[in-house]
Amino acid sequence: MPTRGSSHRDTPERHVPSPLSVSFRFYAQLNDFLPIEARGTLIERAYLVAPSVKDAIEALGIPHVEVALVLVGGRPATFEQRLASGDRVVVYPVFTSLELGALGCLSPPALCAPRFVADVHLRKLSRLLRLLGFDVLHAPTYSNQELVAISIHEERILLTRDRMRLKCGRLTRGYWVRSVIPRVQAAEILRRFDLTGRVSPYTRCPRCNGVLRRVDKRDVIARIPPKTAAWLDDYVECVSCRRLYWQGTHTRRIHATLEEILRLAGG
Ligand SMILES: [Zn+2]
Repeated sequence: MPTRGSSHRDTPERHVPSPLSVSFRFYAQLNDFLPIEARGTLIERAYLVAPSVKDAIEALGIPHVEVALVLVGGRPATFEQRLASGDRVVVYPVFTSLELGALGCLSPPALCAPRFVADVHLRKLSRLLRLLGFDVLHAPTYSNQELVAISIHEERILLTRDRMRLKCGRLTRGYWVRSVIPRVQAAEILRRFDLTGRVSPYTRCPRCNGVLRRVDKRDVIARIPPKTAAWLDDYVECVSCRRLYWQGTHTRRIHATLEEILRLAGG
């Protein structure tokens, strides 16, 4: 019969790992994802199990698709790299005007003509971006999985106000829209993706994203109100939904909105 004392000696000692201490510093717009008190400061975190760079960054609230470059101890790191105690992690966002390729950029190369897929809550933003001439898929029926699949397979940038949507590991192109005001959102997108030089108003259908093409007035005369047909000769039609558009009194308001977006984007 083992004595009480020998039983105690036979029990293996429970090993308590010492925590790994890692510090983080986030730059520029990545601070938008942090609580106010943590912005622009050194953030210290302790872990019992070494996390990957991606998991550690996302646990702090920053979607990986917003990150262009991570330095660990001054050296470029991958998202999969495991952190070690004492590591200093410096994280940079995607800049439009800075070439990070030589440093080990983690975000995919910028698209020549960026295309977008917007989540269900960004209907007004989608329409404004289409009015500015950009290719934006949007449907109220898209599930989260569909949004991610479209983004990956069609190389479209996923636009969302829900940062959790951007944490899907397979996603490589995404942007968390900061503002809640559609005009300001559109200006934000123009600035973030450096698109002001690519604006091409009235070339895309705001309703369905189809391309607009000029049509001969005689071919569509039956669909034009007689009072309009009497004074206007220029008409465009959506190649997808066949909706007809022309310059009228209502387009002054749209024009003013687009002017405001461009002004906001430039400011
Ligand atoms: Zn259309």
